[in-house]
Amino acid sequence: MEAILVSACLRGVPCRFDGRHKASGAAEEAVAGRHVVSFCPEVAGGLATPRRPAELVGGDGHAVLDGTARVVEDTGRDVTEQFVAGARRALAAARHAGCAEALLMPRSPSCGRGTVYDGSFAGELVPGDGVTAALLERHGITVRAAPGV
Ligand code: SF4
Repeated sequence: MEAILVSACLRGVPCRFDGRHKASGAAEEAVAGRHVVSFCPEVAGGLATPRRPAELVGGDGHAVLDGTARVVEDTGRDVTEQFVAGARRALAAARHAGCAEALLMPRSPSCGRGTVYDGSFAGELVPGDGVTAALLERHGITVRAAPGV
């Protein structure tokens, strides 16, 4: 059975910053018949739940991996280190399970694929990937944004 890495919040795990989940029937349908590896990079990186919201500042997840952007909470606390650590653990989990694909939560500074929040905490979106999405893609894993959320 093919394995796929999926954002844990999409599978009903209450690991979002606000302590909620984003369970998605559309995401479940998209991974039906696969061995699903549920993973939350932010929690794996050492952040608590609930926690302050965080956004990418100065660039997207690729820029964070390149050292030219940061991840910052709305309080100003820099959580780049935790986001990068969580992304590395997500990659390790994906490799361990043999995942060639990942289905991730849209817009997140970790899991976002294609669009992410712009760092203003005003709900504005810009093109780009989250830190985990960027790292997985750089290592040959096909990353898609989950539908319907
Ligand atoms: Fe965790 Fe990713 Fe969901 Fe954020 S979007 S709560 S990092 S699984």
